[in-house]
Amino acid sequence: MDYRFAGRMSRFSSSAVRDILKWTQGKDVISFAGGLPAEEWFPKQALEDAFSRLFSEGTGRELQYGLTEGFPPLKELLVKRMDAIGIGCSVREMILTTGSQQAIDLTARILLEDGDTVLTENPTYLAALQVFQSAGASVRGINRDEHGIDPQLLEQAILEHRPKLLYVIPTFANPTGAVWSLERRRTVLELCRKHNVLILEDDPYGELLFEEGSRPPTLMALSGAAADSPVIYTSTFSKTVVPALRTGWAVADERIIAQLAKAKQAADLHSSCLDQQALYRLLLTFDLDGHIARLRQVYRERMETMVDCLKDPVWQEVRFEQPQGGMFLWLELPEGDDAAAFFPAAIQEGVAFVPGDGFFTEGGNGRSIRLNYSHSRPEVIREGMERLQRAYLRYKQQIPV
Ligand code: PMP
Repeated sequence: MDYRFAGRMSRFSSSAVRDILKWTQGKDVISFAGGLPAEEWFPKQALEDAFSRLFSEGTGRELQYGLTEGFPPLKELLVKRMDAIGIGCSVREMILTTGSQQAIDLTARILLEDGDTVLTENPTYLAALQVFQSAGASVRGINRDEHGIDPQLLEQAILEHRPKLLYVIPTFANPTGAVWSLERRRTVLELCRKHNVLILEDDPYGELLFEEGSRPPTLMALSGAAADSPVIYTSTFSKTVVPALRTGWAVADERIIAQLAKAKQAADLHSSCLDQQALYRLLLTFDLDGHIARLRQVYRERMETMVDCLKDPVWQEVRFEQPQGGMFLWLELPEGDDAAAFFPAAIQEGVAFVPGDGFFTEGGNGRSIRLNYSHSRPEVIREGMERLQRAYLRYKQQIPV
């Protein structure tokens, strides 16, 4: 059979992270590759209780089709949580999605036509690049400095390419863990307002901050209110409750939400309302903020363990910034090193990471790597980092694998 796939399927390749996850499955490999939360901290019992209450108290209606925009009581609860971080919105300015991944996908569907330009940070979240590429957009990455995306490069690119969309992760980015300064947030917001460029602000990690009170305001909060905002904001319960619920949300002007809902009807009618109802029941009794506070401590300890391992002289030429939150550590190997060539040595020693080039729009310098610290317990991190160290020495000595 001659399978005639759509041209857009060849515009992007399967994610390097997914491929690494596939290779390492079932092997004795400590993986710092995936962006996975800590399983032992999943609120399993509370979820089990929520689902069982949903079934035992339900009438059967909870199993019926639901609304495209999402289960209203969960949205009302989320509106309050948004208000607590300075995002003023109503339930009509919000849609629940199948993870924040779908919010990215739907945004691309409602905005992009073949040949439109999307600007992103460089490097940025790989699966967002895949969405924009598959939508036929031309994706241009803007480099960053220590305060965030470079505003001069951004304005130049806006003037040159007239993009419809700027996709950013201003707080604890994937893959770099970096945070934009407050001033940079204001500057970028003003630039985009001035040039009529919509911003998609992806904020899955904002709650995972290590220092109490250090969470900077979101671009959406700085823009005033959802009504007439130049920002579409998206976040998710994947990192704070569990990813398996596949529940995320987007906040935007009502006109945008209406378009997102139309695109969502075509995609899946609605996300699982069973999961949304269970999540709502969970949140009625479960102390989510207390849980997030514990996660912050757990992740901070894991990050510090990994950073501590990097103090070994083996790593003295490797550059990195200690993250203030999120799930990733971004390393830059010294001049002359090649992360892709280091990778097989790491797998040979039983540890995985993601070579950084895939996160760049036009390929990186070949020397960056992303390490995830949230998924492994501190003792596993120590063991994994010892393996990584052995692998690095092996790579440096050019011992064939
Ligand atoms: N955005 C970013 C930056 C991410 O890292 C992820 C998950 N790794 C997502 C969006 C998607 O998350 P989810 O669909 O589980 O909400």
